[in-house]
Amino acid sequence: MEVIRKKGITDEAVLKAIDTVPRHLFMDSSFLEFAYDDKPFPIGAGQTISQPYTVAFQTELLKVKKGEKILEVGTGSGYQTSVLIELGAKVYTVERQKNLYLKAKQLLPVLGYNPVIITYGDGYKGLPVHAPFDKILVTAGAPFIPEGLKKQLKSGGSLVIPVGSDVQEMIRIIRLDEDQFIEEQHGSFRFVPLLENRASD
Ligand code: SAH
Repeated sequence: MEVIRKKGITDEAVLKAIDTVPRHLFMDSSFLEFAYDDKPFPIGAGQTISQPYTVAFQTELLKVKKGEKILEVGTGSGYQTSVLIELGAKVYTVERQKNLYLKAKQLLPVLGYNPVIITYGDGYKGLPVHAPFDKILVTAGAPFIPEGLKKQLKSGGSLVIPVGSDVQEMIRIIRLDEDQFIEEQHGSFRFVPLLENRASD
């Protein structure tokens, strides 16, 4: 997508993955004509599919390599999940809204994008049973960095997470070894909030 390249995304593999995954299939039919605009759209349950630039930005920061084991917190529509799978990652994804989880679980295999695990639960806690991960991606705005997620990174692995309440700073944390972490800031974004526990529905 040329717009995204112009906005500063340079990783060719990421640009190709964004071009390949059919975003319109993850969106409500009422927004179809806008599916390839660089904007977020509602996906139900008060949530949004992130704008393609944001998906590309987070994916670029993750530096995904083929075969890497990646935890995604906030499956939502499954669009970001598909971009990661398109890049050859083995994706474990968790969503706290049951209806969004059920929809993505049904849609992804139909499109040929098969996560290793897609689950309904609270991603604040990560997925300790399946840890450690090469990379962790949080696609909702977190009020703070959950310690549990840092602990589920492999040494050398990284966590990309937007942190803040109204506006979020994109943070990348790199785990150097057992107890040493580097923290970098990568600019301001706006996400729906990361909420604790499963939604009660
Ligand atoms: N990656 C998604 C973005 C959806 S918006 C996509 O490409 O469409 C963020 C999602 O995070 C929402 O669906 C929201 O319900 C979910 N979410 C918020 N808090 C969560 C939590 N603690 N655990 C898992 N999912 C969460």
